[in-house]
Amino acid sequence: MEKKKYVYLFSEGNGSMRNLLGGKGANLAEMTNIGIPVPQGFTVTTEACNKYYDDGKIIAEDIINEIHEKMVELENISGKKFGSLENPLLVSVRSGARASMPGMMDTILNLGLNDQTVEVMANKTGNPRFAYDSYRRFIQMFADVVMEIEKRSFEDIMDEMKADRGVTLDTELNADDLKELVIKFKAHYKAVKGDDFPSDPTVQLIESIKAVFRSWNNPRAIVYRRMNDIPGSWGTAVNVQEMVFGNKGNTSGTGVAFSRNPSTGEKKIFAEYLMNAQGEDVVAGIRTPQNIEELAKENPAVYEQFMDIVATLEDHYKDMQDMEFTIEEGKLYFLQTRNGKRTAQAALKIAVDLVEEGKLTKEEAILKVEPKQLDTLLHPAFDTEALKAAAVMAKGLPASPGAACGKIAFTAEEAKERHENGEKVVLVRLETSPEDIEGMIAAEGILTVRGGMTSHAAVVARGMGTCCVAGCGELKVNEGAKTLEVGGVTYGVDDFISIDGSTGNVYAGQIKTVDPEISGYFGTFMAWADDIRSLKVRTNADNPRDTAQAVRFGAEGIGLCRTEHMFFEADRIMAIREMIVAKNETDRRAALEKLLPMQKGDFIGIYEELQDKPATIRFLDPPLHEFLPHEDDEIAELSKELGITFEALKNTVESLHEFNPMMGHRGCRLAVSYPEIAEMQTRAVIEAAIDVKNRLGYDIVPEIMIPLVGEVKELKYVKDVVTRTADEIIKEAGIEMKYMVGTMIEIPRAALTADEIANEAEFFSFGTNDLTQMTFGFSRDDAGNFLKYYYDNSIYESDPFARIDQVGVGKLIKMAAELGKSTRPNIKLGICGEHGGDPSSVEFCHNVGLNYVSCSPYRVPVARLAAAQAEVKNPRSKSCDSSAEEVAASTNN
Ligand code: ADP
Ligand code: MG
Ligand code: MG
Repeated sequence: MEKKKYVYLFSEGNGSMRNLLGGKGANLAEMTNIGIPVPQGFTVTTEACNKYYDDGKIIAEDIINEIHEKMVELENISGKKFGSLENPLLVSVRSGARASMPGMMDTILNLGLNDQTVEVMANKTGNPRFAYDSYRRFIQMFADVVMEIEKRSFEDIMDEMKADRGVTLDTELNADDLKELVIKFKAHYKAVKGDDFPSDPTVQLIESIKAVFRSWNNPRAIVYRRMNDIPGSWGTAVNVQEMVFGNKGNTSGTGVAFSRNPSTGEKKIFAEYLMNAQGEDVVAGIRTPQNIEELAKENPAVYEQFMDIVATLEDHYKDMQDMEFTIEEGKLYFLQTRNGKRTAQAALKIAVDLVEEGKLTKEEAILKVEPKQLDTLLHPAFDTEALKAAAVMAKGLPASPGAACGKIAFTAEEAKERHENGEKVVLVRLETSPEDIEGMIAAEGILTVRGGMTSHAAVVARGMGTCCVAGCGELKVNEGAKTLEVGGVTYGVDDFISIDGSTGNVYAGQIKTVDPEISGYFGTFMAWADDIRSLKVRTNADNPRDTAQAVRFGAEGIGLCRTEHMFFEADRIMAIREMIVAKNETDRRAALEKLLPMQKGDFIGIYEELQDKPATIRFLDPPLHEFLPHEDDEIAELSKELGITFEALKNTVESLHEFNPMMGHRGCRLAVSYPEIAEMQTRAVIEAAIDVKNRLGYDIVPEIMIPLVGEVKELKYVKDVVTRTADEIIKEAGIEMKYMVGTMIEIPRAALTADEIANEAEFFSFGTNDLTQMTFGFSRDDAGNFLKYYYDNSIYESDPFARIDQVGVGKLIKMAAELGKSTRPNIKLGICGEHGGDPSSVEFCHNVGLNYVSCSPYRVPVARLAAAQAEVKNPRSKSCDSSAEEVAASTNN
């Protein structure tokens, strides 16, 4: 057997090897292949990372040997030698997973320096300031990443020295200062660790590689993965790369570039850089970066080369690129390229533009927009009138669009905590760092004092679709005192601020928001998505207003109309309570008579909004105690209104008590006990449909859904009530009307016996909230108490209520779909749980052959795009939900 290869020179890889080499490694290899100036190096594969974990956090001997062999090859390529006292080779050690996880894992620069090599570097370059600046950075990064010594503690030492020298910028410290700083850093290292800073470059290297492997499982990386559906099993690769230096003086620098504007999508290169700087200086917001146009004046030749390479990379990858570059004494290098993160607006514009420029097909373009991102387009902006009245208190950079309003939180922990307590907060920070991730997720919006459009806050906020204003330098923030001062006014934790991520404006107080308008690129792009997809998208809606909203967002019908939501409204709850306390069928029927016109009215409103789109109407589902009060004083009051004694009502309430209401007297069990409820609901649905059909001429086929079925006989029992009632009404009306009766599949027994159930059910709708709950044996409402421990221990990677558990619950769905079809080949299959709007779950539904997904109105566009992407990735014939005609048409293409 051939020996497995764990280490690849950049020249041995290519762009398609992302799974093995990680995104960064694959692209460094690809850039090398197409002749972009890239400092050379090698990549230790993701398989080596997984093996490191499998072997109990040890890098196997033969992998270490392979690393050493590649190091020798890199020495030959560079003409330098690792640890040599003549011409020392310095390297960076960089993480790089399959999916880009900006700032989530760790990087070490200038590795290979020690007390001897630093002197050689100083002498060789004649630039001791540069040599010692590099050394102090290395000590700090190594200590932080490998030894977990607080980065802050080194920054404090440096700040002390700057104060002592009377300077404010890092660049104002001279060579002697930095030399002294190195001594202090090493002393601090020894004080904390008890050992000397490791001087052997080989030890430095191996320890750093291990640290990058470890960083795959640091808490912020785990949170990021959960948010972005990245499996822990992927692992990270490690890139070891020859250093180039942007900190060699004023003809050197480092920067970040986007081939198009990541905020608006405008076709214009957008880049920022800092002279005499290294690594993360640009994104950390330590100094405010310069626009790339400055480079055109400072060094036109390099500027031109830069613009050329950016254009080449975009054409090569056929997508907007996010790049890192360094200029060392007037020579340009590219250190990274990847498909850039962008706002939803930019994503749509770029996708449409690239198709129009002839660079992408529609199918390729469909894959370029993250479905979840569309959400940000659908959310409110500030009301223009209210905005006119508002006074701008400060202005920063428009880093991530949208409007946000909340009370001020000064730390990430505080933001998270207050959010959990139901408060809306805006996170205000000097600058953010990856440790702030959970607070950033919790905040309505993010406001930073320092940093540019490519700062950490800006990049992360755009990725999350959270509104962000960055680099708002006028604000004086005192984190300790929890105050924010601007224009002579001081604001605290109880004050509201409003921020506009599209203009950069910051306002005091609360500003009214309005719903956005959808048009232009969105319309064009979504029309392509609709053309491509075969999976239909319906909505969950219980009233005409939500229905209308969902139809505007492109819903093709209602997949779940929960009838009980109508009962909770003030004018109906009394009638349903009368029904519950009724002592016999006659009284119950009398109460139901009162409900009938109201329920029928609701269905009429919904059918009018839908025109002739279908609606699946689910019959009464929750346990009846939910409609009754539980406190004595409320019971007393209600008993008076109902004209019964306190004791009688109290008895009813107690008799309805259940040990586990979610598994109690609910769903179709209610209709089995009280068939007159199903009778009334059938009457309401059918009469409403007849009314709308007669008045407006829509061809309505009511879909009646019986919930919580586990046994075909209980479905048949309720179905008989429905058909008897419906047939009679239709006959009386003297018209033709078809209707369907189906069921939710939400109890494992229903999935297991789906072939029997399909004898009665004309459609299945997978109720994946309950199905997940019953399959796992824990409830969505209680899982919050313990899922955290499951994530922390990597037992679960994502919330099974948000993303379908494909292994377990998914198996039931797949099986039930197949069993259902075996009995009734044309059975209609859909899903109506929360999962219907989750892109990975939508893809799953497509792959198992469901006809439609149904989700809340605001997620309809997300589901439409996810369905189109699923089709592009795994085309299926459009036969599932279409007439023979459509099938013929689609196969002719
Ligand atoms: P991240 O994934 O967090 O962006 P990177 O591995 O890209 O981390 O490294 C962070 C920074 O270090 C980058 O901005 C890059 O410019 C700089 N850097 C990495 N490797 C080198 C190198 N070989 N020479 C010069 N700078 C480097
Ligand atoms: Mg980094
Ligand atoms: Mg990077």
